[in-house]
Amino acid sequence: MLITLLLATLLSTGTPAQGKPDLKTPYEQGNGNQTATYEEAIAWYQKLDEAYDEVKMLPYGMTDAGRPLHLVIVSTDKDFDPASIKQKNKRVLLIQNGIHPGEPEGIDATMMLARDYLQNKKLRKQLDNVVLAIIPVYNIGGALNRNSHTRTNQNGPEVYGFRGNARNLDLNRDYIKTDSRNAQTFHQIFREWDPDVFMDNHTSNGADYQHVMTLIATQHNKLSPTLAKYLSGKMVPTLYEGMKQDKFPMVPYMNHAGDTPDQGIIGFMESPRYATGYTTLYNTIGFVPETHMLKPFDQRVKATYKLMENMIETIHRDADEIGKLRQQAKEQTLTQKQFALNWKLDTTKVTQIPFLGYEAKYKPSEVSGQERLYYDRKSPYSKKINYYDEFVPTVTVEKPVAYIIPQAWHEVTERLKLNKVHMQQLKRDTTLTLDSYYITDYKTSQRPYEGHYLHSEVQVETRRMPRQFFKGDYVVYLNQEANRFLVETLEPQAVDSYFNWNFFDSILMQKEYFSSYVFEDLAAQYLKQNPELRKQLEARRKQDPEFAKNARAQLDFVYRNSPHYEFTHQLYPVGRLMQEVKLPL
Ligand SMILES: [Zn+2]
Repeated sequence: MLITLLLATLLSTGTPAQGKPDLKTPYEQGNGNQTATYEEAIAWYQKLDEAYDEVKMLPYGMTDAGRPLHLVIVSTDKDFDPASIKQKNKRVLLIQNGIHPGEPEGIDATMMLARDYLQNKKLRKQLDNVVLAIIPVYNIGGALNRNSHTRTNQNGPEVYGFRGNARNLDLNRDYIKTDSRNAQTFHQIFREWDPDVFMDNHTSNGADYQHVMTLIATQHNKLSPTLAKYLSGKMVPTLYEGMKQDKFPMVPYMNHAGDTPDQGIIGFMESPRYATGYTTLYNTIGFVPETHMLKPFDQRVKATYKLMENMIETIHRDADEIGKLRQQAKEQTLTQKQFALNWKLDTTKVTQIPFLGYEAKYKPSEVSGQERLYYDRKSPYSKKINYYDEFVPTVTVEKPVAYIIPQAWHEVTERLKLNKVHMQQLKRDTTLTLDSYYITDYKTSQRPYEGHYLHSEVQVETRRMPRQFFKGDYVVYLNQEANRFLVETLEPQAVDSYFNWNFFDSILMQKEYFSSYVFEDLAAQYLKQNPELRKQLEARRKQDPEFAKNARAQLDFVYRNSPHYEFTHQLYPVGRLMQEVKLPL
């Protein structure tokens, strides 16, 4: 009986009786141009989990595809509790793969990486102070939707997943609006593990050049100054040097200023809708490696592997420094008073960076007969190009003491809960005098963008006034780790605010109007009692002949300046409490 049980256990783990378990990945077993399917990747990590006590695959919450999101932890002292890991002053590197499953090299590279760091003594030593947290495949719905054509210009692999998820969302725009269950689950993982460094592996589109690997590092102006100094001054140079030694010299992500890279490139400003824009809100250093789509798949996998290897080595080397700087950055976020909500490129600041390109040339098109661009691989060049990577804030706001969020806006408070925001509720109905915004202007996209009619260029007018709140409404003090997340979601002028993502659209519509023939008499009387308003009406008539001819418009003018007009029209519901007051909490 015992023997049968033992045999069954051995069979079920797939562990051979002697030697290392067979942990060749599907990529290694293939022809070098094939990537693991979602099922293969999960089954393989399951085997890794069974073979090593230092590995645990944790199923987290749901995804839109109806399958759970997995998180694989590699922790050499077999501690899988994020709080305890933090107490031991270890750094956590979160690696996310397959957010765009058509760009899958991270999926395959990370599987080999996890195994090698367990089996190779020298590599394993680096995990003394670094814990790996791996999302094997983030966009599961997209990974299940495999094809060979949608990455039109990409050089392999033979078959891959699709960019849209099960709801056709681009998950790399979903980190604030959180429409997908994938993003809801990501927030839980992210806030529970609080990674020090985050990597989100991708493949790039665009121009042709010699580099296999391009890199977006968190835009340094958006990072707290202490972390930014370390990132730009030490971490990024170490990664560039290491990748050069490994024969994969890098260049920043090719965001061109003109038609071709030799006209200069612009640093990528990731707003919080993007993965690394979101992680920046919590002082996590983020990286988006983008391998070049025209390079063969095996080179792209190798470059991704090498970059992750350099990343782990750097985090291992600087573990204490990164820990201290992050702690300082978090303290700074707690006391910071002013927050930038929007940014623009400073075109006066430019540096020169080395670039390995191919000459851009033009010839007649066989399709249209017009001039067409091509890159001549027979004419490689090495030269310095302009790099613009300084951004300045265009809108800045002072944080309030607290935001008061009426409980009616539960889609918003649910998202704050996912972010582990500390919220309290009023114990009884309360009138509070606080700052409120009226939305005075905004633009709206003409067609849906990621499932929303996104707003932008919001203008507000601040009014200090008493407002009625009710038992159960939420009070959110700005004395917490999520301060920056709160400001950048709850301030309507922030580029990725909940207002811009349509969470408050119902306030933009007027609910009550007037009947002209009845309001005539009331309006006449109101003008008699308010000669100042009558003067304004007359002035407006003189200025605007159309208005002077339009009876309804004039009645509406009086209506909007009378107490009959609803004060809640365009009133942004979230209040800004500007001084400490005793609240019934
Ligand atoms: Zn991508």
